[in-house]
Amino acid sequence: MNKNIAVIRGDGIGPEIIREALRVLDKIAELYGHSFEYTEVDMGGCAIDKWGDPLPKEMLDKAIASDSVLLGAVGGEKWNDVPSTMRPEKGLLRLRAGMGVYANNRPAKIWKQLSDASPLRKEIVDQGIDFIIVRELIGGIYFGEHKTVGDTATDVLTYSEAEIERIGRIGFETARKRNHRLCSVEKSNVLDSSRLWKKVMHRLAAEYPDVTLTDMLVDNCAMQIVKNPKQFDVIVTENMFGDILSDEASQITGSIGMIPSSSLGSTSCGLYEPIHGSAPDIAGKDIANPIGTILSAAMMLRYSFDMEAEAKAIEDAVSAFLDQGYRTADIMSEGMQQVGCTQCGSLILENLR
Ligand code: NAD
Repeated sequence: MNKNIAVIRGDGIGPEIIREALRVLDKIAELYGHSFEYTEVDMGGCAIDKWGDPLPKEMLDKAIASDSVLLGAVGGEKWNDVPSTMRPEKGLLRLRAGMGVYANNRPAKIWKQLSDASPLRKEIVDQGIDFIIVRELIGGIYFGEHKTVGDTATDVLTYSEAEIERIGRIGFETARKRNHRLCSVEKSNVLDSSRLWKKVMHRLAAEYPDVTLTDMLVDNCAMQIVKNPKQFDVIVTENMFGDILSDEASQITGSIGMIPSSSLGSTSCGLYEPIHGSAPDIAGKDIANPIGTILSAAMMLRYSFDMEAEAKAIEDAVSAFLDQGYRTADIMSEGMQQVGCTQCGSLILENLR
């Protein structure tokens, strides 16, 4: 298969981690007879420096025209003083909105080799943590009206049935590809938008009889994620709840350097990125963990290109790397061998079959 991938290296550790992910993609192309072409897209602080804009229109157009987008990370102190509409992160918000990617998908998985890194008690970790949070990404309170009049501030939370239905379907479809359990998270004891959310989810459930739907209030879900994470397979929720719960979920797995994400809309062109930021404190030192980005590339192969075997090959190569006792600095523990970013990429490449 021929695929055109828009590559956004971004700022801080972005270029280092993307370089390793591209080496892995090149190896996959060689092993499986594909051709991946990369289109460079400037976004974030580097685009401000070069073009005076965190995401110039022609860059957004290039991303939209691609088969999928692979992103490192953007941002850094250097651009803290630019006007808020021009900040590096604005480029990312514009990219998500421009691509129409409304479903953010973040796995919370604990690698058995890294179970010591979790802040949870061993007996909870040993039960296994492996679930996905599907978060609505371009609606809700973050996109409602924001205003401050005198000493009163207002933020508006709105969801239409259509917006809930399209993210709900992604939740059900994701559960279908996994263990057929979907937990819909809302605050229907207080919010009208959550009562509508719940109603739509239950209407959709009739179309997915093979998926078991349960409901949970968001405050309870926040507790259950640390108390009994094994109960979850797929969680589907609205934008702000998903933002908070997915950060909580990433923490119980140990290192944010390991976690990939995907954002999808109504086409197969998705946005794939690690969940961490540009880590300016370690940029340029060749010590960043590239695994979150490498696993994001694997998600791209699975969800946008339908290349399941290729995605699995990458995940197995990462698992083998960990089995062999190699660790980057962020996941280092006693008795393991510490490696840098480039060496981590090389060792994963060697494990690719
Ligand atoms: P961060 O995720 O960049 O870093 C938090 C901590 O985790 C740091 O100590 C960092 O060294 C470490 N870390 C992060 N990724 C790592 C990796 N792959 N390997 C090893 N260690 C890693 O968060 P921050 O410091 O709050 O933000 C830094 C910049 O990134 C800010 O400008 C922020 O706005 C931006 N940011 C961008 C994105 C994005 O591009 N999607 C997301 C979050 C933050």
